Amino acid sequence: MGTGTLHIDLDALVCNWRALDAMSAAETGAVVKADGYGLGASRVAKALAAAGARRFFVAVAEEGAILRAALGPGPEINVFSGHMEGDTALLHAHALTPMLNSAAQAARHTALLPGHPYGVQLDTGMNRLGMEPADWAAGRAALEAGPLSLVMSHLACADDPDHPQNAAQLAQFTAMTAGVTVPRSLAATGGILLGGSYHFDLTRPGIGMYGGDPFAAARPVVRLSLPVVQVRALSVGETVGYAAAFTATRPTRIATVSAGYADGLLRALSNGAQMWAGDTPCPLAGRVSMDLLTVDVTDLPDPPTALDILGPRQTVDQLATAAGTIGYEILTSLGPRYARQVAGA
Ligand SMILES: *Cc1c(COP(=O)(O)O)cnc(C)c1O
Repeated sequence: MGTGTLHIDLDALVCNWRALDAMSAAETGAVVKADGYGLGASRVAKALAAAGARRFFVAVAEEGAILRAALGPGPEINVFSGHMEGDTALLHAHALTPMLNSAAQAARHTALLPGHPYGVQLDTGMNRLGMEPADWAAGRAALEAGPLSLVMSHLACADDPDHPQNAAQLAQFTAMTAGVTVPRSLAATGGILLGGSYHFDLTRPGIGMYGGDPFAAARPVVRLSLPVVQVRALSVGETVGYAAAFTATRPTRIATVSAGYADGLLRALSNGAQMWAGDTPCPLAGRVSMDLLTVDVTDLPDPPTALDILGPRQTVDQLATAAGTIGYEILTSLGPRYARQVAGA
């Protein structure tokens, strides 16, 4: 087989969700935007629904429509981008709950879908999505009089427990939502780890379920195994790949592996990351190509037939560090060419 295999462990995912759930007294939702952080929103959400999750979050209504088809009626599907122009039919047909982000969205929603449930997203300092304090103050009474299901906000710095913006946003959220009688939600994965004062009624973890930082206790959910196309011997002084960016300084064996930057293995990994043959690390040699990686396998006793780039020896965050990015970007970049092999749940 010419493509890599992305192994997805749904039992580990459910285990991570339960572990995050056990860290708070609040209800625990699940964020499955960007196709479940690249792992398949429908399969992820079905596994979590079977484990008891009742509220799911997506970025846009189009994702919500796909999720509704997978989950059927019942679970609440919340849309972070709210009620945008052109969303009305999707929100209605698939019973999606928009998180209204502005007075304009609130006006659109009440005009076009009266009686249809909604939430409100508040801006408490991130300045990305959500109603400003003045919009909320002016519109609050009318919004609370309708079918309001959730009031939420998002922390900008929750992955850094010492950042002063955490407490500032908590204070702002607490002040803005004083007297609100519907469920309130502030914490994603990082906020869950900040402790009880951040939990309110509902938490919204994403990355921690998928095995990523800042949830250090997470079980790895993915293993990515890539087949070796061929192995060759190089003499001292020979070079490898585009721009001849690697030069053999010893008699060297190079394995050419089937996957490249078109599959989400970022070009920034060139000459900087490792693959694994069981417990033995094998460094990338030269540049990442579109469809191929070249790997120094000189230290292996036998030529390998496949090498792992994600797995127990190299987490998404470790690979992300090698590429100068974050685990979120590694996961959501994993390309469509891999064969998805799903285990568990
Ligand atoms: C992506 C997102 C989450 C989930 O964040 P994680 O850091 O992945 O846990 C929660 N809430 C909002 C508004 C988001 O955009």
